[in-house]
This record gives sequence, C-alpha cells and structure tokens, in this order.
Amino acid sequence: MAMREFSEDGRPRLTRVAIGLALFFAFVTALTTIGTVMFSDIIRTATSIDDSRSQLAARMALVGLKSRISGTVQDNAVWSDAYAGVWGPNPYGWIYDTWGAISRNYPLYDGMIVMNADGSVFSGMHKGRPSAPSAFFRTSLNPLLQLALDSPGKAHAAFADTTAGVVVVAMQVIQRNSHMDPLEKRKTLVLYKLIDPAVLSDIRQQQNLKGLILTDRVENHMLSLPVLDAGGRSIASFAWQSADPGEKLYQREKPLIALSILVLVLFVCGGAYLAFDEVQRQRRSARKAWALATHDALSGLFNRGGFLQMVEQRRHNQPAAPGALFLLDLDGFKAVNDNWGHPVGDALICSVAAELKACDPDIDLIGRFGGDEFALYAARPDRAGAIAEKVLAIFRKPFTIRGLTIKVGVSIGVADTDRGIGTDEMVRRADIALYDAKEKGKERAVIYDAALGEAKAAELRMERELRQAIADGAIVPHFQPLFDARTRQAVGFEALARWNRPEDPITPDRFIALAERAGLMDQLGESLLEQSLIAAGKWPGFSLSVNVSPLQLCNPRFPEQVRLVLDRTGFDPGRLSMEVTEGALISNPEQARQAIHALKSIGVRFALDDFGSGYASIGVLRQFGFDRIKIDRSLLVAADETDSGADVIKATIALARALDVPVTAEGVERQEQADFLTQNGCDQLQGYLLGRPAAPAQILRDLCEAKGENPLAQAC
Ligand code: C2E
Ligand code: CA
Ligand code: CA
Repeated sequence: MAMREFSEDGRPRLTRVAIGLALFFAFVTALTTIGTVMFSDIIRTATSIDDSRSQLAARMALVGLKSRISGTVQDNAVWSDAYAGVWGPNPYGWIYDTWGAISRNYPLYDGMIVMNADGSVFSGMHKGRPSAPSAFFRTSLNPLLQLALDSPGKAHAAFADTTAGVVVVAMQVIQRNSHMDPLEKRKTLVLYKLIDPAVLSDIRQQQNLKGLILTDRVENHMLSLPVLDAGGRSIASFAWQSADPGEKLYQREKPLIALSILVLVLFVCGGAYLAFDEVQRQRRSARKAWALATHDALSGLFNRGGFLQMVEQRRHNQPAAPGALFLLDLDGFKAVNDNWGHPVGDALICSVAAELKACDPDIDLIGRFGGDEFALYAARPDRAGAIAEKVLAIFRKPFTIRGLTIKVGVSIGVADTDRGIGTDEMVRRADIALYDAKEKGKERAVIYDAALGEAKAAELRMERELRQAIADGAIVPHFQPLFDARTRQAVGFEALARWNRPEDPITPDRFIALAERAGLMDQLGESLLEQSLIAAGKWPGFSLSVNVSPLQLCNPRFPEQVRLVLDRTGFDPGRLSMEVTEGALISNPEQARQAIHALKSIGVRFALDDFGSGYASIGVLRQFGFDRIKIDRSLLVAADETDSGADVIKATIALARALDVPVTAEGVERQEQADFLTQNGCDQLQGYLLGRPAAPAQILRDLCEAKGENPLAQAC
C-alpha cells in the first residue's frame, strides 16, 4: 500500500528530515567546538608565553641586583687606596669617609661592613650611622664570607634576610691591585642594598612585572620566583601578577565573540525554524496525502483502502475484541444516476453517508467502497442484527434530494470476527452474505454463517466445473421449433443451452446465471452462438433465434464478436434473431442501443424476450428498434387463471400490432392456448404443444422425415 510512508494516523515518517536536521546540528556543533577550542587555545598560549617571559624577566632582575652590588663591591674592594685605608693608621676614619658617610643616601648601597678574617665585624655603618650587623642580619653571612676569603679574586653576592627586610649583599676581600695577603690578614668589604619599594618599583617598570612585590606568602593566582640566600634557602619570593594577554585578547575580542555567538544562535535558530517549518509542512502534506489516499472525496467517508486499514489497526490494537463488518449495496442506485443524472446520484450518496453516520452509536467506522457500496464496522457483533435493522429502516422511507423524492433500497451482508479470522476473510464472508441478501430478493440483511459459506464453496466448485465444461464443449445448444400461428408450420428454431451432465442435471436458468456471476458469459455465449450457427446452417430456410445475456449485450466488443462468428460460419445474418431480456436495457441502455443498432445494420433482428414478466413497456420496443416481442409464459399461466390475465395478453398483442411489431407466444402447452393466441393476433407460437427442445441431430431427423416438399430435402 502506498500508505507505507505514513504511520497509521497519517503522520509521515520523517527520517530524511531528521537525518538532515541531525547533520545540520552536528555540523554547527562541530564548527562551534573547533572555534571555541581554537580560541581558548590561543588565549592559553598567549598567556603562557607571557608568563614564561615574565619568569625570565624576574630571574634577570634578581641576577641584575646581585651583579650590580657585586660590581660596586669589586670597584671598592680591589683598590690599593682602600687597602691602604683599612690597614692604615686611621682605618675607622678612612672607612667612614669613604664608605660609611655616603651610605646614608647612596643609590648603590644602604650599608657597609668591613669584616675580619675570623668573621668578626671590624666596622659597620647603616645609612650613614654605625650599626651592629650581627643583630641586623638574620641570615648568617658566614658561608658568603668563607667564599669571599677562599676566592678573593671576585665578588660574591647573595640575598639575605635582615631586620629591615630582604637585602642583596655582596662581599670581596679588600686588596691591592697587585698583591694578595695571606688569609689571616684579609679584611672583607661587605656592601648591601635593601630591596625596598623603590627598588621593586624600578624592577616593576623595567621588566614589566605587574604588581611585583617581595613577600613571604605567595597568593595562588600570582606568579612567583623564590629569593635564595647564600645557603640556597628561600627567604622570600618575588610575586607578580600574570599580564594575562589571553584575557586581554579575550576582553578585546569579546564584542566580536558576542557577535559571532549571536550570528551562530540566529543561524541555528533560523535553521531550526526552517527545519521545524519543513517538518510541519511535510506533516501537513502527508496528512493531506493520507486523507486523500484513505478517504472518499465525495462522501468524506473512508474509502475501501482506508476503511480496511482502520479495521486492521483496530484489530491489531485489540486482537481479542469482537467486531462485525457490514457490507451495504444500494438497490436501484444506478437507475437514479441514469434517470436524474450524476449530480443527483452524488447528492444521494452524501445523504446516505449522513444518515449512516447518525444511525447507531455502536457503528465505529463507515466507509464507501465505491459506487453504491458502503461498509460499516461495529465493535458489538451482538448488536449486528439491531444495527442492520436500523440501516434497513433508513432506506424504507424515500430520500428527498433537490426536491425529488427518491426511493432506493439496500442489501446488507454481515460477518463477525469469528475466532480471529483475518480482515480479508471477514470481507469475503460479508460479501457472500451480501450476495445472498441480493439473491433472496434485496432490501434485507443476511448474517454470514457456516451454511452460507458451504453454499458459496459449492458455487465455487460448480463454477470450476462450468469453466471446464465450457472448455470441453460440454455445453451445447438444443433447438425448440417456432411455428407459424396460422399454418402451424415450423418456421424457425430457438437455441437453448444444455449442459450434458446426466448425473446431476442443472437447468440453463441456473448455469447461465452462474456463468454471468463468474464472468464466463461472453465465452459461453460465443461458444453457443458458434455451435448454433453451425447446426442451423444445415437447415436453410429456417430462422434461428439465440438468447443473448444482458452482460453480453453490454460488452462493447459484442457486435464485433458476432460479426466474426458469422464470418467464420458463413451464416446469413438475415436468418439470425437475437432474444434480449429487458435486463440489458435497464442496466446499460446506451450500450444496448449501440449494440442492437450495429447488429441490425448487418441484418440481424432483435426480439424482446420474456415480455410481461418485468417492467418493460411497449415504449422500449420503438426506442430500441425491436423487430418482435415474445410474450412470457407467465402471462399465459395468468390468462389460464383469470379473465383479466387473458385481457392483459389481448391488450399486449394489440399494442404491439399497433406498433407493427409481430408477437411470439412462448410456453404454449394446450390447444386452447394456441387458438386463443392465434385469434388475438400472435403470429408465432412456441411450446411443448408444438415441439420440445431437441438435439440438432434429432431436429435434422425430424425434418428429414417430413414431407418431400420440405425445403430441407437436399440436407437429408
Ligand atoms: P427463455 O429464453 O424464455 O426460453 C424458453 C424456456 O421455456 C426454455 O427453458 C424452454 O425449454 C422453456 N419452454 C418452452 N416451451 C415450454 C412449455 O410449453 N412449457 C414450459 N414449462 N416451458 C417451456 P430452458 O431451456 O430451461 O431455458 C431457460 C432460460 O435459460 C431461457 O428462457 C433463457 O432465458 C435461458 N437460456 C437458455 N439457453 C440460453 C442461451 O443459450 N443463452 C442465454 N443467454 N440464455 C439462455
Ligand atoms: Ca428465449
Ligand atoms: Ca421466456
């Protein structure tokens, strides 16, 4: 079914849209993730590069401090005048004048000490005043002094902790440029510089170290470098803030980032909106397509496919739930269309649909299977009889359509969900029941039962047998003579079908009807026509009547088929008469008229068969151009019973004669009947009184036995 693309309530399966949407979001997410990772990586890298730079700068600053004080110590210690001064007669005065006094306000150092080789202080000045270095220094200077004494050729520097804070200190033995004294005669010059706010401020500016401080405790967010004393112990730390260029970059690009995010959000929202819109649109059009595919445009009811799909769905959802399926077929709807036109027929269908909808609350589903067929489904099979009765009641009163009062009937077949049979089987059973309802005379409901199923099975068996019989040529024509009413001479023959089936005889009424139902009538009709023409070809001079089923006449290819058989057999069309019942004229008058016209044009004549058994009026004689009528046997039977019956026959014959249409009476069994009919104007008689149907060989024998002037003499 084309409905596979939809779920059962008409929702589309949106896999393609969903995949598209997923791809779109995956693409956008991937792009966003890559962008974010790249950007944060740039930020991190920028920050870490600058942090490394600042680490290096801080290290250089510490090295710079040490090298500056070392340089100063070296300039002052390796100096013959200084050696002379400290070893001279007034060393204290010399020391004070040269180094001590200026320490008060000198950018290169804040204090000086001259130390003896044993580590004792010879002289100490701090900011121009005498000092007590042993109290001032918290860090022992001995390791540094040891270095200075051991390698007097260069200055030695380190950081040290003092009561005034961290200092950078350097020392070197005071020496002449040319000669080095022995160890015990060595005095060492110590200069130190406080790392005070001014020093820090210089470093901060020169090395671009933001917020540089000297501290004992480094806060987590700060970068730092330990300040080590001569023994390698950390006495404080340089701490500064990261310049965080990444953060700056981020701050600078923030508006752009915000804009990108906005664009992205708009893009995603736009995409999502379009996708949503597309999904809605597809949903709408799928619903529409589903509705179109499952509904009947005229009545708005489910069509056959939609109805069965819904029944299936119900039974699938509740497999154990009982249900009853009703098939309805309107009786006489075709005549409404033919007589009043299709718009009235359509309006009638809509009225029927409306009445069915309001008919009974237990009706769950209503469908129109096309034409004048409807279907109902009810979840209460126990109420099937009551529902059917209500439906029949709708059709008991006429419909009023566009001011017209229209009466149609309905036949109903019902089947229930007996022991979980499939929906197809339910439809088949309801169809059998419907067929039975029609057979029994329409305007009734039949509920399927096993016997009905058996009858249908028997019919199917019979149908198979019939098919075989046609193929085997087991259905043959017999011929019943037609007599001139006055001379009582045979003037023609009517071909009547016989099925050679001695063990279980079956009348033509039944097997002809069976062939019609089974769609075998064209084939059977053609076979019988050909056999009849071949047989009748052997008795020239006699007319041949063949019965034509309404179904044959309504087949557009019928005239051509007849022409071909005539050609094949070489039979004179002028001898052929076709007997047609009024059924064909009612079911498809236009097609019947065309067929009759086409065949009459090549000389074939037409007789209206069974006249008086139905509703056909004398008017149809002229309308369709009939050459003859055959009064039905039932009229003769009626005439035997009442005077009025005889009057009907008289009037019928009189009317036909007035129209110049000759009349054959069939079923003439008694002499009085033959005389009565002859007297009242019948020109042909047919019946057991005069001759029974017989096989062609018998006919030929009978004819040959007749008198010598028999025109058939040469055929004998
Ligand atoms: P029908 O066309 O009205 O044929 C006349 C029927 O009346 C024949 O029945 C015939 O045997 C029967 N009949 C003739 N004279 C008498 C009589 O005096 N008394 C009684 N009681 N019956 C008489 P049959 O052969 O059983 O055919 C029945 C119907 O089957 C035919 O009625 C015709 O409608 C149909 N039929 C028969 N052969 C063919 C055929 O080859 N093609 C078609 N389409 N229908 C056929
Ligand atoms: Ca007939
Ligand atoms: Ca008849």
